[in-house]
Amino acid sequence: MIDLHLHLDGSLSIEDFNYLSERNHIYLGDNFPENVYVPEGCTSLEEYLTRFDLPCSLLQDEFSIAYVVTSLVNRLYNSGYIYAEIRFAPQLHTLKGMSQENAVISAISGLNFALKEKVGFDANLILCCMRQASDEINMETIKLADKYRTKKVVSVDLAGPEKFHTGDFYTPLFDEAKRLNLNIIIHAGEACGSDEVIRAVDLLHAQRIGHGVHLELTRENVKKMVEKRITFEFCPTSNLQTTSLPEYKSVPLREFDKYGIAVTINSDNMTVSNTDVLKEYRHLYKEFNLQKYEVRHLLTNSINASFSDSNTKSMLLNELNKKIDSYFDLIIKEE
Ligand SMILES: [Zn+2]
Repeated sequence: MIDLHLHLDGSLSIEDFNYLSERNHIYLGDNFPENVYVPEGCTSLEEYLTRFDLPCSLLQDEFSIAYVVTSLVNRLYNSGYIYAEIRFAPQLHTLKGMSQENAVISAISGLNFALKEKVGFDANLILCCMRQASDEINMETIKLADKYRTKKVVSVDLAGPEKFHTGDFYTPLFDEAKRLNLNIIIHAGEACGSDEVIRAVDLLHAQRIGHGVHLELTRENVKKMVEKRITFEFCPTSNLQTTSLPEYKSVPLREFDKYGIAVTINSDNMTVSNTDVLKEYRHLYKEFNLQKYEVRHLLTNSINASFSDSNTKSMLLNELNKKIDSYFDLIIKEE
C-alpha cells in the first residue's frame, strides 16, 4: 500500500502514547485511549482537529519526534506498505523551546534510522505550514523545506482549519515556495468549497490537493486540473468524520477519474481516524465494487504523484506489480 497523505501527529500508536506519556510525564487523560480517536458525533473539521492536542503535547523534544517517526515507518513496513510521505508541522513542536529546525532534523534522523535495511520500501517527509500561524513562522517552515530538500524533505503543505483564511491570504508564502522550486501541496476543498481548490491551484501553485472532494467538475475546472496535472489526495473516512462528505457513496472517485483527474486514496490520520489505506480501499470496494485494475490504477496514481525520485518510482512500480494480487486479496477479504 501507499499513503501520500499521512499526518505524523494523527498516527501515533497506543504504545507510542503510553511510552511517551511515561517518559515525558504527561497524563493521557481519564478516558484514554478513547480520547485519541475522533470524537463520537464529531460535526466539523475544527472539532476533529482537537484530537491533535494530546499527541502534540507528547512531541516537544527531539527524541520523541524521532521515536514516533521510526515507530510509524516500522508499522507501515510491517503492514506491507511500499511507500509513504509523512507530514508534520515543525512549528507545532516548539512549545517547550525546541526549534522548528531541530524538529525537522529529528524527524529526518528517525526516518533514516527506520529505513535502514528495509528493501522494497521508501518514505519521505512533508513540512506543513498552518493556516492559523503567522507569516513569519510559516516562512521559517518554507525555508527549512528548502534547506533539507536533499535530506528526505520533499514538499511543503498548508494544513489547519480551512475556514481560517482563504487561500489568497497565503500568496506571498507560496510564491516564495514556488520561487525556491519546492513541491507544494495545499489542504483545500475539505471544509470549504470548490473556490478554495481553485485558489490553491491558481494562487498557491499547488501540485497536489489534500482532499479537494468539493471541487465542482465544470468544464473549465476539469480542463485546469487535467492540464496542470493536479493530483487529489482523497481521505474518505476522515471526510465522513468531519462531515465534509455524508457517506462513502459520496466520494467522487469515479467522477474525477472519468474526467482524467488523478485521484489517490489515503488515510489522513491512522489513529485519529482509526484507519489505514487498506481499510480505505475496503470501504471503496464495498461501495463501488472496485476492480483489481482500478486498485492498480489508483496505486499507480500514488506512485506517479509521489515526490520521490525516478529510481524510487521505478522500484515502486516493480513492487506494486509483485504485490497487487495480495493487496487485492486483502481488500476483498472480510475483516
Ligand atoms: Zn490532512
